[in-house]
Amino acid sequence: MQRNIRLRLLSNFVIFFSLTAIAWWSVLLFTLNRDAFQGKAGESKMLMIAEGKIKNDAEYLETQFYKDLQAEYKRQEWMILAESLVFIMSIIIGVYLINRGYNKEIDAAQQRRNFLLSITHELKSPIASIKLVLETFIKRELSPKHINQLSNNAVKETDRLNELVNDLLLAAKVETSYTPNLEKINLTQFLTDIIQRLQNKYATVIFDFRKPNIPVNIQADRTGLTSVAVNLLENAVKYGAANTKISTVLRQNEQQQIFIEIADNGIGIPNKEKSKIFDRFYRVGNEDTRKTKGTGLGLYIVRQIVLAHNGKVSVADNKPQGTIFTISLPSNDV
Ligand code: ATP
Ligand code: MG
Repeated sequence: MQRNIRLRLLSNFVIFFSLTAIAWWSVLLFTLNRDAFQGKAGESKMLMIAEGKIKNDAEYLETQFYKDLQAEYKRQEWMILAESLVFIMSIIIGVYLINRGYNKEIDAAQQRRNFLLSITHELKSPIASIKLVLETFIKRELSPKHINQLSNNAVKETDRLNELVNDLLLAAKVETSYTPNLEKINLTQFLTDIIQRLQNKYATVIFDFRKPNIPVNIQADRTGLTSVAVNLLENAVKYGAANTKISTVLRQNEQQQIFIEIADNGIGIPNKEKSKIFDRFYRVGNEDTRKTKGTGLGLYIVRQIVLAHNGKVSVADNKPQGTIFTISLPSNDV
């Protein structure tokens, strides 16, 4: 960090020095140009007076020679000004682009670090739990009840590992080779099923689903859309308060465009983070201090899948607190 600050200071100094040098050279060129003009004008005036072509200064100012000289001087003045401006603009644009690239690089490095920390933790903890269960089986004689309990835990941990690996694979796929495998889906039924499944998984959370009276159908990729809905709902649970209420709304406007809104009343997302959370591996806060588990892949997968369906995903604040994610999808049911 210290080295970065020193490098920044040094580059700022070099930039400042270059800008001052250009400004100084421009002033110098202006002066030289003016001196040369005055010198030439003075010399030619003397010559003309000596040759008897003109009598005084006033006549000299009317000569074609002086007018040409003056036009040439003005032209050169503009040239110096334009060249200096181009120089200064190039430096400013160059510095801006380098700075932007540098900041992006820093962000990317931070995200990679976050990702490595979280993925190592996410992979290691279920593996450690499963190992512990197996070691207990080897070392101890256990009652069937106890065996059952430990096995269930191990299965849960294996599911977690499986989900993580699936997320990693899906993220790699949506980045390169994902095309939706379209089929007709009754969205009303589809969301009811997913919400019911999650309600069984998170008994203390209150799930609420508002839907139109008539079924909403869409041509979409079932696996992809499942991932979108599950990721958003799981986020709402994960970043929601205890006993949080998660409201899902399905609606369709006059143009038949479909909207799915998932709202929670949890910790919310600060405005400056809203545009970043869809980036791969991005998680709000810092891995060392963060309490929730995750890899920062969920919303990236959501966005890529929604985009592949020609849809959009957006995020806004919920009132009085929390977050609302809205997915809009074009209606394509024929
Ligand atoms: P995972 O890959 O397991 O989903 P994750 O949940 O951290 O990990 P994303 O789903 O991509 O990753 O979310 C990115 C970040 O956005 C989260 O780390 C969290 O900080 C923030 N976030 C997402 N959804 C919500 C929400 N409903 N409320 C508050 N913050 C949220
Ligand atoms: Mg998530």
